[in-house]
Amino acid sequence: MQTIRTDVAIIGSGVGGSAVAHQLAGSGAKILILERGDDLPNEPQNSDAEAVFVQSRYKTTDEWVDAKRAPYRPGQYYYVGGHTKFYGTAMFRFRESDFTHTQIDGATSPAWPVSYADLAPYYAAAERLYGVRGAAGVDPTEPPRDAFPHAAIPHEPVIAALSDRLRAQGLHPFAMPSAIDYGPDGTCRRCGTCDAFACRFDAKGDADKRVLRPLLAHSDVRLDRNAKVTRLITDGEGKHIVAAEVLRSGEILRVEAQVFALCAGAINSALILLRSACEAAPDGIANRSDVVGRYLMNHHLTGLMGVKPFTTNTTKFPKTLSLNDFYHGLPDDPDARGNIQMLGNIQGAMIRATYPRTPRAAADWLGRHSVDVLAMGEDLPDRESRVRLLDGDRVQVDYRPGGRAAHDRFVRHVRHVLRRAGFPVVLRHSFGIQAPSHQCGTVRMGDDPATSALNAMCRAHDHPNLYVVDAGFFPSSAALNPALTIAAQALRVGAHLRNARAI
Ligand SMILES: Cc1cc2nc3c(=O)[nH]c(=O)nc-3n(C[C@H](O)[C@H](O)[C@H](O)COP(=O)(O)OP(=O)(O)OC[C@H]3O[C@@H](n4cnc5c(N)ncnc54)[C@H](O)[C@@H]3O)c2cc1C
Repeated sequence: MQTIRTDVAIIGSGVGGSAVAHQLAGSGAKILILERGDDLPNEPQNSDAEAVFVQSRYKTTDEWVDAKRAPYRPGQYYYVGGHTKFYGTAMFRFRESDFTHTQIDGATSPAWPVSYADLAPYYAAAERLYGVRGAAGVDPTEPPRDAFPHAAIPHEPVIAALSDRLRAQGLHPFAMPSAIDYGPDGTCRRCGTCDAFACRFDAKGDADKRVLRPLLAHSDVRLDRNAKVTRLITDGEGKHIVAAEVLRSGEILRVEAQVFALCAGAINSALILLRSACEAAPDGIANRSDVVGRYLMNHHLTGLMGVKPFTTNTTKFPKTLSLNDFYHGLPDDPDARGNIQMLGNIQGAMIRATYPRTPRAAADWLGRHSVDVLAMGEDLPDRESRVRLLDGDRVQVDYRPGGRAAHDRFVRHVRHVLRRAGFPVVLRHSFGIQAPSHQCGTVRMGDDPATSALNAMCRAHDHPNLYVVDAGFFPSSAALNPALTIAAQALRVGAHLRNARAI
């Protein structure tokens, strides 16, 4: 078996892994990033809804099973840059209250071991890194912050009209923060496919383009593609991680390092830890607390299509508007709460991929005549909501959403708001765990080693040289898109590693 030695091994090249590497590049330490995927090919199918949604061209071919052991092909994407290759570029900071203990509909949203103030400088750094566009001072729930690195993207006419109609209801729509190279000198071509598609023009601020590629110019940073980490190996006492076992082109390698940053995404990081069970850690690595794989969250995500039969929606980039007036609850129902934001344009092929019996002409008509909105609610952590390994290596996702009833009440209100904004028909669709786009919480951090796997710096309570730095560390999900918070905390962890000379 070939052995490779490095100073820091980073497993996964998504938001978390690339940000840790960004902080360590140039420190003198040798960094090896192990990524199971390859570069995403740049090809016409990137922006072809039929290829992306109906043929699932880019989704993993791996099979997982659900709570009832029914197999399915999850909406997981394994490429350099991770899920940001397909993300919708919404780059929100969490609100100050998202880091504190809250009760919602009788369930608990736990406090984080870090506060908004701890993360604020790293949020600013992450926004610069990803080139986020936005406008400060217009979102009523906004935490303290300075100006955005780039000015907000202007609304196109249909979205501007919606914004006016929301204002007429006394609401406060604002410019959605977005990581996209938009504007007169930008690379965005306004092709109309962005959210859930890969960008052929490299205009999307994804982890590959914005963070990794510049790093690869450093002689100390190396990225190994098609290198799937299968498990971590400890020393005899089960304290230090000594190596990662890697499957690369049919060959098994051993990668030894002083520090391991596991950044494979919330579900895969938990699976790697569970798969690493050994005599000294029989329930999996970093799992004395038995929380690894548990508390899986994904947000309540409900798409709403506001249909106007006699109006064609010609918008190319709709994701310029968001609304947080109900982030802390409806006036008469404080538990019914969440964020509202524009979705990317829904096309007929996307509707047919989910509802295959819809006639093509009807699906295309709906796509042309709708304005598409996402209602996002906090998914409250449930200990029994979990990912586990069955019969050796079969992956089971037994997901239990928390706070669904309050979300449904919120969605009812959002439908009402849209009807008042001029859409006589509002259709809804709930996105489920089969596409775990906002997965988080499976390797939670906390101050107490009995109830959490990681400390406030994402270091495993059980292993001094293991950090888990992806959406797995979230103790709660908030009701806003996760990527900027993952990036901010990963930059914080990377700075700690560099300053503490832990390597
Ligand atoms: C369609 C879609 C739209 C989204 N839109 C938004 C949005 O607008 N805003 C937002 O904030 N978030 C959005 N998200 C979510 C966001 O992309 C994720 O929260 C974020 O990318 C997660 O970062 P991560 O570092 O936790 O993991 P990932 O991005 O998943 O990165 C993990 C990396 O690890 C690699 N990996 C996995 N297993 C192994 C292994 N065994 N060995 C080696 N490598 C491995 C993967 O290939 C991947 O590159 C969206 C997601 C999707 C799918």
